Order: sequence, then structure tokens, then C-alpha cells
Amino acid sequence: MKYFTVGPSNLYHTIPKHINTAINKGILSHSHRGRKFKEIYSKAESGLRKILAIPAENKIFFISSATEAMEIILRSCVVKKSFHFVNGVFSEKFFLLGKEIKKEPAKIEVSWRSDFDYNSIKIPKDCELICFTQNETSTGVALNIKNVYKLKRQKPHALLAVDITSSVPYAKINYKLADLVFFSVQKGFGLPAGLGILIVGPRAIKKCQYLADNNFDIGGFHNLLDLKKKGEEKQTVETPNVLNIYLLGKVCADLNTRGIKKIRKEIEERAKYIYSFFEKRKGFKNFVQKKSIRSKTIITINIEGGSENLINEMKKSGYLLSPGYGQLKKEQIRLPNFPSTDTREMKQLLKMIARNVI
Ligand SMILES: *Cc1c(COP(=O)(O)O)cnc(C)c1O
Repeated sequence: MKYFTVGPSNLYHTIPKHINTAINKGILSHSHRGRKFKEIYSKAESGLRKILAIPAENKIFFISSATEAMEIILRSCVVKKSFHFVNGVFSEKFFLLGKEIKKEPAKIEVSWRSDFDYNSIKIPKDCELICFTQNETSTGVALNIKNVYKLKRQKPHALLAVDITSSVPYAKINYKLADLVFFSVQKGFGLPAGLGILIVGPRAIKKCQYLADNNFDIGGFHNLLDLKKKGEEKQTVETPNVLNIYLLGKVCADLNTRGIKKIRKEIEERAKYIYSFFEKRKGFKNFVQKKSIRSKTIITINIEGGSENLINEMKKSGYLLSPGYGQLKKEQIRLPNFPSTDTREMKQLLKMIARNVI
């Protein structure tokens, strides 16, 4: 089966080789407190730092998922008030999580294929944290983060959290302005699921320290202060997903060898090809009409008469596609365009899709 799914996605092509090496070297049975693990930790950390251009002062923490990152951020950095940009399922999840853990989240919401009117947005005075989903996996809308940097500059005391789960490593982030950036690895990095990455700037650590000093709740074992303390020893609080941390280091090295500039260029060229392929064809419609907010990494296509038949037929031929999300499930397909996507295979896939929809 070939996986053209958006997450979990197709594994990066070097993964089977690296898993074999991990088993042959006995990595999976090493103690997570030993020297070998510290080397694995350091390699993943430095590989990520290089490919995402993360400054030395920002810390990188290994956690379980992007969803967990949302909870850690809200617990460790917010006494009460977060402010959420909501334009799809994942941004809404972040907002709802705030309610679930008894914070007082506020939101601004737009329909699933629209942009925000940034000039008219008033971020509340007492806002402690701005939450922004740069690439909405549920809709294929990618927002220009510079608009939020502007708003953040007007509220310098507020922290900024950015979800880049389905645009990493394509998305370029200014880590001096984005205090908390997170993703899980089963989408853009093409790794098995079960590992989340949280990148934390000094202002966020300071805020957590403030909460702790003033006797506010900062969360359980994965609070930012304990993550930082263990991270300085190149260790994790718990027994972590050693295999995935190992694979992340290896895949980062592979991607760094290809070069991030080249990877970004390939993603852009492929996105252009895919969007124009469907633009011209009868039976298809690009869901996101405004070109400036069309995601380069998650491409959503409406299928005339519904997508169910197409998805079933493709499955019979050995190609697995993602349907639309939630209310769009039966109308759409969503295509991944990640570093693990092969251009030749993608072109073949598009031809097959076209043949199945007439
Ligand atoms: C998939 C996804 C998540 C959730 O990731 P988990 O690994 O399931 O926690 C969060 N945000 C975005 C944008 C996603 O695409």
C-alpha cells in the first residue's frame, strides 16, 4: 500500500534502514540514563536546531504529541487568559483544551477557508498567551505568521505559541518572536507517531518560573521547569520514546544532507504542480480559493459528487488517500506534500485520480 495520507503519513524512505540499525546496535535496550542515550538525545537536538534554524537560547523538549504540547503550554505559561485564532479543527482543539483545564481562553473565529482580518483584531489587554495554528491540517489553509508577529509586537508581555505540526520543516519561524513552537513527527518528518517536539524560548521559561514562584499550578511531570532541568542533562523526565528520538536524529541528518533550501523549493514546485493540475480539470475544485492562504504542505481538493468512491477505488489499486476532515469528510481528499513525498509518485497518483473521476 502506498500512503498518500496527511498523518500519519508516508514514512521517510530511510526509516526502514535506520530501524534496522537501531535494532542491530541494541539501542532499544539501552538505559535512558546512560551515555549512549545522551548521545542520541544530543544528535536529535542538534539536527533539529540546524534544519529549523533554532537559536541556541531556545530549548528543545521531547514530549509525546502535539496535543500534549498544547496542554503543557497552557498549564505552564497561563494563569488564566489565552487568546486563540480558530479556523479549523486543530486550532479549536487548542482553545477547547484551555476550557477543559479550567483556564479562561478567548477566541476569534473565521470560517474554514477564510483568513483573519488582522487589522481589526483587538487582543484583550490581559491576554497572557496568543495561540496560532500556522497550517490547519483540517482545511489546508496556511496563514501568514507575519500578521501575528505584528499583533504580538503590540502586546509585548503576551507569549506567542505556534502549531506547525503539518508544515514542519517547510515553515519558517522567527523563534525570537514565537516563544513556544510545537509539532508531532508523524506528518512533516515522516516518522512513526508517538513523539512531540516543543521548542521553548527564554520568556516562556521565565513565565513558568513566575507561576511556580507564586504558587500557581504549572502542570504535572511535563511542566516546562522539569523539562528544562532534565533537558540540560540531555535526558527526559520519563522513559521516553528512544526509538523515535533516534530516528528523528537520523532523519534530520538525512534532510540536512539534502539541504532545507532545496527541500523547501521542491515542496513549492510540487504544490504549484498539484494545485494547477486540479485547477484545470473538470470534476475537481481546489477547496481554498484564496491563493495566498493555500497550504503548500496540505492540499485539499473538493471532488464533484463526493470523494468516497474515489477513495475506495484508489484503495483497491493500492493507494491510500485522506478524506476531508469532519464535516468535509465525504466531499474532499487531502493530499500531503512533505519532504517524504516523491515527485514522480505524486504525478502518477494525480493521473490515476484523474482517471477515476470523470
Ligand atoms: C495532527 C495535528 C495535531 C495533533 O497531533 P497529535 O500528534 O495527534 O497530538 C495538532 N495540530 C495540528 C495542526 C495537527 O495537524
